[in-house]
Amino acid sequence: MKPLMPLGDALEQLLSDVAVKPSTEELSLNDSLGRVLAGEQRASIDVPPADNSAMDGYALRSSDDGRRLPVRSRVAAGDVAGSLEPDSATRIFTGAEIPSGADAVVMQEDVQVVGDSIDVPTGVSAGQHIRRQGQDCQSGSLLLSPGRRLRPQDMGLLASQGIATVSVFKRLKVALLSTGNELREPGSGPLPSGAIYNSNRPMLSGLLSALGCDVLDLGIVADTADATRDALAEASDKADLILSSGGVSVGEADFVRDAVSALGEIALWRIAIKPGKPFAFGRVGETPFMGVPGNPSSAFVTFLLLARPYICALQGRSEEAPSVVPAKADFAIAKPGTRQEFLRVSTRQTDGEVWVTPYMNQSSGVLSSVSASDALAVVPIGKTIERGQLVQTLRIDALLY
Ligand code: AMP
Ligand code: MG
Repeated sequence: MKPLMPLGDALEQLLSDVAVKPSTEELSLNDSLGRVLAGEQRASIDVPPADNSAMDGYALRSSDDGRRLPVRSRVAAGDVAGSLEPDSATRIFTGAEIPSGADAVVMQEDVQVVGDSIDVPTGVSAGQHIRRQGQDCQSGSLLLSPGRRLRPQDMGLLASQGIATVSVFKRLKVALLSTGNELREPGSGPLPSGAIYNSNRPMLSGLLSALGCDVLDLGIVADTADATRDALAEASDKADLILSSGGVSVGEADFVRDAVSALGEIALWRIAIKPGKPFAFGRVGETPFMGVPGNPSSAFVTFLLLARPYICALQGRSEEAPSVVPAKADFAIAKPGTRQEFLRVSTRQTDGEVWVTPYMNQSSGVLSSVSASDALAVVPIGKTIERGQLVQTLRIDALLY
């Protein structure tokens, strides 16, 4: 049997498999949340388009500080600002353009109102409380690079430039197969003996949807060579990527690898991680195939560690991988392991220090461990851990989009 492949090598091989960018479509900016930018976005105007006031107060000449000035005009946000008459001040509100001639804004709290005039304090400096034209974005500057998955704040930034449509990569269509004779769908009635509910299906479907994929759910696939081959063939016809759960281990009822090999190839199988060793990758015809193990925790962890980066690359995403966060181990590992372990842990802060505590049962079949956890703590191959030692952790939330 092949030796286990280190996670880093597996990731490198997966990412080197992604050659072409997906095709693109034009979308209304308002419909573009979570979509991946196909081209760069540059500013075509200055934002703000003109100097404006950062405060409610009075626009004036800074050289008039310490004087009493009549207030001769008024400009609010949206008004056209005229020019400031000599020896006067203009009443001004936040966001209103600065009248020509004025070079400072004094906050209304800092002046004394005397009838129709104000007493200007001393020490007014040129430029104070003025937001300069272009201080947010300058015309021509780069706003967002291709490969960026659009977040609400990115959409706001593009809107500030008057951008109404964006060119994005088309959504990836992913066929999802749940293999296993024992599986029943929730809602199908009480479980007959020997059966369990299909928990991977909504979990994997949710993980795919959260990444912005279109999910083509092909349901439960029976543990036979024919059923597995038929389902894979259908999936490869209809989807850009196939994701299956179960059936990639070494048992007699594990038909997935043979079926993939018969219709294409298995390029990668068995990774030196815990949980998730049986993860497989290959092709069915021309369609990439990923097989996560059936054990729900293994399915979840291998999706985050292996399927997610591959899917991001297929989608044309080009962001940095989510950062690894150090935390103190509220546990000890006395015996070094032969696989890189990803403990399902909960994070807490005590006296400004971040500690991680493993869920009590780390068995790969225990789904409550991932539901109860907010991070994965990494135990490197061949290492022991002492309580209080710093370990690397991955925030689960950061891997869900
Ligand atoms: P397998 O990878 O097919 O050998 O399955 C490993 C374990 O995961 C077995 O205990 C299966 O019953 C369980 N399992 C497989 N698929 C699912 C699924 N979709 N939902 C819940 N458990 C599953
Ligand atoms: Mg099975």
